[in-house]
Amino acid sequence: MRAARTGTLLLIGGLLACSPGQDELEAEALSLHRSAIVVDTHSDTTPLFEDPNWRFDRRHALGHMDLPRMREGGLDVQFWSIYIGKTEGPGRTIRKALKRIDAVYRMLEQHPDQLELAQDVAGIRRIVAEGKIASLMGLEGGHIIEDSLPALRGFYRRGVRYMTLTHSFHTNWADSSGTDTTPAPVHLGLTRFGKQVVHAMNQLGMMVDVSHVSDQTLVDVLRASRAPMIASHSSCRALANHPRNLPDPMLQAIASKGGVIMLNFYPAYLDQDANEATRAHKLVLRDDLIPLRSRFKLEPAKGARALQAFYAQHPFPSVPLDILLDHFDHAIRVAGPDHVGIGADWDGVPSMPIGMEDVSHLPALTLGLLRRGHSAETVRKVLGENLLRVMSEVEYVARELGYSER
Ligand SMILES: [Zn+2]
Repeated sequence: MRAARTGTLLLIGGLLACSPGQDELEAEALSLHRSAIVVDTHSDTTPLFEDPNWRFDRRHALGHMDLPRMREGGLDVQFWSIYIGKTEGPGRTIRKALKRIDAVYRMLEQHPDQLELAQDVAGIRRIVAEGKIASLMGLEGGHIIEDSLPALRGFYRRGVRYMTLTHSFHTNWADSSGTDTTPAPVHLGLTRFGKQVVHAMNQLGMMVDVSHVSDQTLVDVLRASRAPMIASHSSCRALANHPRNLPDPMLQAIASKGGVIMLNFYPAYLDQDANEATRAHKLVLRDDLIPLRSRFKLEPAKGARALQAFYAQHPFPSVPLDILLDHFDHAIRVAGPDHVGIGADWDGVPSMPIGMEDVSHLPALTLGLLRRGHSAETVRKVLGENLLRVMSEVEYVARELGYSER
């Protein structure tokens, strides 16, 4: 399987070649990308799996991700996001999440020779060595467990290996950063039950994800968690002042606890001008976009397809690949080379940087990082080893805490 992928990646290498004298570096980048375990911690492609007519194994013109493009991009490990919006009524969020997880399982069952659900780091390494894409899941939003620790444990047993403590709204036990504006805090961080949730995650070996949480929630998590944490899809606030991004002291605090910041690729989070242009663009499209979102509230797969078509017709602002590389440079400098990774937010956002239009372009990141002088060792860590190290440490803490505490 590795040999088959080599051919594809060499082909991409040919496409990347643009100036003479770069051949050596490009060859090094492709060889490094091919041999590294490449991990991404955030894909929102999952609603499409609920549509039996949408083929994951076909190459699509729309969206950011499908099996052929994942293979071209040399992506080895994907955390599928179980993203469920705010849903009223007891049991309804859990039921929607179970349906989404079921759709992920059905996708995996349709392609047993290409993908496999991984339970732990040892499983990830085995599955990747067999030439398959290791698949894991992350819950996007602590509201999904509906304040139930048994539900949290149930999700773990189904293969969920991280939970983002909040989405863009507060849960009953943790404050969110919001998306475009920061809502007034209601808990001033994490409540007592919120700390119990974090402890339960530590005991299970489920990674605590601080993307989307408020700065104060993050401070509380740093104190409460006995294991290192991840930010599954967040960028640097020093480069783009957005509440979804992490300020330098937070990058350093996550790093000093041994964690990893997985950088988000969304242009509106990467660049101030792109953010303002995106807001203006959304305002112009408001009258079409809002009804489109609500029309398919009960049919997530149809909604996702309609949004993909809408974004293709009304392209959102983008940024050059260099702006994304600036975030990698900054995070590597501030947090350190052991604490940065990839959490692109595939299919969760309306645009990607120019030169990173979909997952098939991932080798361009490896080449860009080498061009900027990062060592092969650093790049290999950023591509995946950092996340695998954190996950191993989370597994170790769970073993140390022991079953008796569960
Ligand atoms: Zn998100």
